[in-house]
Amino acid sequence: MRMTDLPLSPTPRTTLHRLRERSRLDRADLDAILDAGLICHLGVVIEDTPVVLPTGYGRIGENLYLHGSSANRSLLSAAGQQVCVTVTLLDGLVCARAVFHHSMNYRSAVIFGRAVLVDDPQQKLAALEAVTNHLVPGRWDYARAPTRKELAATAVLALPLDEASVKVRSGGPKDDPEDYDSGIWAGVLPSALAFGAAEPDPALRGDIPIPDHIAVLASQFRGAPQAGSG
Ligand SMILES: Cc1cc2nc3c(=O)[nH]c(=O)nc-3n(C[C@H](O)[C@H](O)[C@H](O)COP(=O)(O)OP(=O)(O)OC[C@H]3O[C@@H](n4cnc5c(N)ncnc54)[C@H](O)[C@@H]3O)c2cc1C
Repeated sequence: MRMTDLPLSPTPRTTLHRLRERSRLDRADLDAILDAGLICHLGVVIEDTPVVLPTGYGRIGENLYLHGSSANRSLLSAAGQQVCVTVTLLDGLVCARAVFHHSMNYRSAVIFGRAVLVDDPQQKLAALEAVTNHLVPGRWDYARAPTRKELAATAVLALPLDEASVKVRSGGPKDDPEDYDSGIWAGVLPSALAFGAAEPDPALRGDIPIPDHIAVLASQFRGAPQAGSG
C-alpha cells in the first residue's frame, strides 16, 4: 500500500483541538487542497525568530516541493529543520446576524516535517517541473528548460507529506436562535481565485499566438470547491 492510500493519522501536533468535526482524515482531501491551491506559507525559525513567508509549490506523490533562489534565507534555514507549511483555499465569507458568528468557508492544510534540500539533479528537475506545472499546467514542456547555471541558482526544498492535518468549513452562518428573527441579512459570499484574460508581453513578437495551456486557464476560476464537498 502506498503512503498516499493511507488516511492521515493525527499526531499530537496535527490533532485539531478546536471544532474537531471540521477535521478531514482522508489523504485524498489533503491532496485535493494541495493541488487546488497556488501558494503556501512556509513557517521556519531564522536566527531565533519565527518567520512565515508565502511561496509557490508543487507536489509529487508524497512530497511537497518549494523552490527559490539559492540565496533564499528561508529555504536555506529550513533545510534539515522542522518546518510548518500551510495551504489555504478561501471558499466564502460567512456573514452571520451577530458579528460574533461571522466566519469564512475554507479548506486548509497544515503540514509539519523535516525539510531537506534536494541535491540530486534528476529529483531537482522533476521538482521544478512539478512547481512550474502546478502554477501553469503544461508550461514546463512549452518554455525553455533551465540551464545548468539557472539550476545552480535555484534551491529546491522537499517536505514529506506524512504529518498533516486538513480542516474544512462549509455551509451557512450559525447564529444564536434568538437572532434568526432579527431582520439582519445573513448568508455567504462565495469566493474563488479567478484568472483574467491573458495579457501578452508588449515585447512579444506579433506572430506568437496564446498557447492552449494559457488559453484554458484564462478567465477561469481556480480551485473552486466541488458541489457537495466539505
Ligand atoms: C481562511 C481561514 C480563516 C480563519 N479565520 C479564523 C479566525 O479569524 N479566527 C480563528 O480563531 N480561527 C480562524 N481560522 C481557523 C484557524 O486556522 C484555527 O483552526 C483555529 O483558530 C484554531 O486554532 P488553534 O490554535 O486552537 O488550533 P488547534 O486545534 O489547537 O490546532 C492543533 C492542530 O490542528 C491543526 N489545525 C488547526 N487549524 C487548522 C487549519 N485551519 N487547517 C488545517 N489544520 C489545522 C494543525 O495541525 C494544528 O497544529 C481560520 C482558518 C482559515 C483557513
